[in-house]
Amino acid sequence: MSIVPKQHFNKSNMNLFRPDVDRVAGYIPGEQPQESGWVKLNTNENPYPPSPQVVEAIAEAAGGRLNVYPDPLATRFRRRAAELLDVDPDWILPANGSDENLTILIRSFVDPGELVSYPYPSYTLYKTLAELQGAEHEQLPLNADWSWNYQLAEPIVERSKLVFVPNPNSPSGNLWSNDDISRLIPRRGILVLDEAYVDFSDAALGIKMLSCEAGNRIVITRTLSKSYSLAGMRFGFAIACPELIFGMRKVKDSYNCNALSLAAAVAALEDIPWMQRNVQNIQNTRVHLTGQLERLGFDVVHSQANFVWATHSNRLHKVIYESLKQRRILVRYMHFYDKMSTDTPEIDGLRITVGTDSEIDRLLQALEIIV
Ligand code: PMP
Repeated sequence: MSIVPKQHFNKSNMNLFRPDVDRVAGYIPGEQPQESGWVKLNTNENPYPPSPQVVEAIAEAAGGRLNVYPDPLATRFRRRAAELLDVDPDWILPANGSDENLTILIRSFVDPGELVSYPYPSYTLYKTLAELQGAEHEQLPLNADWSWNYQLAEPIVERSKLVFVPNPNSPSGNLWSNDDISRLIPRRGILVLDEAYVDFSDAALGIKMLSCEAGNRIVITRTLSKSYSLAGMRFGFAIACPELIFGMRKVKDSYNCNALSLAAAVAALEDIPWMQRNVQNIQNTRVHLTGQLERLGFDVVHSQANFVWATHSNRLHKVIYESLKQRRILVRYMHFYDKMSTDTPEIDGLRITVGTDSEIDRLLQALEIIV
């Protein structure tokens, strides 16, 4: 029996929330059915398991000293990541998934009323974080081919305290070049290059930007959720010059990475070939999926991520999504609307995660019937 009777919940308590929190709808993550039997292609998880070394490391850590706090500085992880990236460990800030680093970034650099901007359409969490911080937010317009509309974007960037750019972008999966990105660094602010999907691309060039003249205003965020198959562990890290990392460290929770996820993350970085093999499989399946979707009449953006963005000119995307769901196949139906956007005020489509070959075969067989 509950010790708090349900009728004590009083709606007027909502007024105790900060107005910014009260107003926000909140980020809505993709569906996570808790029962098995689904082909799950909706949240860009890796369909392959993590390295067996990771599983061993977690078991060993679980049998270890869980009664003591974990290393607040994640020293072993930072050393290993620094070695791989050829930077000093002081350039690395581990976090409880990339999402935590995005929160730390907003809290570190943006005062209420300052401007946060991000491309439209892109990862919808950026807007939610800006709203929760009481920040102003504006969308940076893209052209219909996902290139930048600099004429409209650059003046917004100039006024921004923080610019989020996912590269590759979500939901499109396209990758912008460093030249493209270099025009998006605010003169009095921070550019966050969100590289959640970069391991699936042909070239991870963002890190080179840290040594450019404006490099001390750039933060790169990476995650182990996607290429390293560790979405369930929650582990990400930021890369930036030590001045920025030291400041951001003050904002993070002292023990933001737990003992098990730290053990898993170190072990994952010790088995790079495992990750690369999975990435290669996903890249191969991505080529197959793209070709087959095109054969079925979809337009598919050239993806550099572990998902593809597919649109169909004479079928309703929502109906396709629902018909797939009836067959226990989950993809992400996405609908974006921005009345300010000149080229593409309204966009909807299907974001489909690249699963295993057999999952993609099941999807394609269902689509043959549906479209
Ligand atoms: N950035 C982008 C663009 C993403 O799509 C995601 C995954 N939803 C994240 C960051 C967050 O990743 P993590 O699991 O590390 O929090």
